[in-house]
Amino acid sequence: MEKQTLYYETLHQGYGQYFAMDRVLFEQKTAQWHLTIFDNARFGRVMALDGVIQTTERDEFIYHEMLTHVPVLAHGAVKSVLIIGGGDGGMLREVVKHRQIERIVMVEIDAAVVEMCKTWLPNHSQGAFDDPRLELVIDDGMAFVDHCQERFDVIISDCTDPVGPGEVLFTSAFYAGCKRCLNDGGIFVAQNGVGFMQEDELQNTLRRMSSYVKECTFYQAAVPTYIGGNMAFAWATDNLAARQLRLSELNDRYVASGINTRYYTPKVHLASFALPAFIETALSAALSVSGIEEGAQDA
Ligand code: SAM
Repeated sequence: MEKQTLYYETLHQGYGQYFAMDRVLFEQKTAQWHLTIFDNARFGRVMALDGVIQTTERDEFIYHEMLTHVPVLAHGAVKSVLIIGGGDGGMLREVVKHRQIERIVMVEIDAAVVEMCKTWLPNHSQGAFDDPRLELVIDDGMAFVDHCQERFDVIISDCTDPVGPGEVLFTSAFYAGCKRCLNDGGIFVAQNGVGFMQEDELQNTLRRMSSYVKECTFYQAAVPTYIGGNMAFAWATDNLAARQLRLSELNDRYVASGINTRYYTPKVHLASFALPAFIETALSAALSVSGIEEGAQDA
């Protein structure tokens, strides 16, 4: 039997997953990064960056549906969306499904990721990069929100883990900038790691974001290739009504949107905000730590 080539994820010390690389489609090693795209019989096309699984064809829909439709349907009247990161195009594919949205700005730090994903992961974007409502900006998300004079109804931070270029997207300065770029009633959401494995990332986000909004919490979904437990999504807004919707109202909005989903349902939406006791305990501990005053320093 032919010897398999394996890709070992190295995100966590002493614990991880591996994928058989049935066919390597693209590999690029530069001073900044080592990016690999390969086929795997169970998960389809897989993109990995510096030893960390970024996205797979088989389970990306869970992550992209939950980071898009939860804030958009909770808000109820979204006209403008800002996506930070998201170079693979999966988030954009879900956002463009909402026909009432008039403007989409996507700020991706690396044009190469967009071009590569259009070529090697076409099922992620499915032509969404051609949507006339999209303005694609190649820039650092931090620099963009620092200078942006535009306001958005929903901001989605779909970035890498808080290492390398992604690190700045987990700082107080970035959260302050995003809050400033939200319209009244606007909602910010972000990928925030797997709570069971990266509890400190949730605590840091809560401690930093709580200075700027009336409500900061998390919701979750199990994304198989983000290993170690449920993926946490940060939620931050002054729009307290957005999380008080009754199931019947959310269901009406979902049906009226006309979108098709494979993971998201209104019941899953509401249930996703129910956090396990150990996460609630960790979040309470984070808020009880000093340093939550205005513009808390980044720990
Ligand atoms: N779904 C993946 C996850 O949860 O880790 C991330 C998806 S996507 C591949 C992450 C994107 O964030 C990449 O295209 C990367 O280039 C981009 N990115 C990282 N840091 C960034 C920054 N500071 N500003 C804008 N985009 C950034």
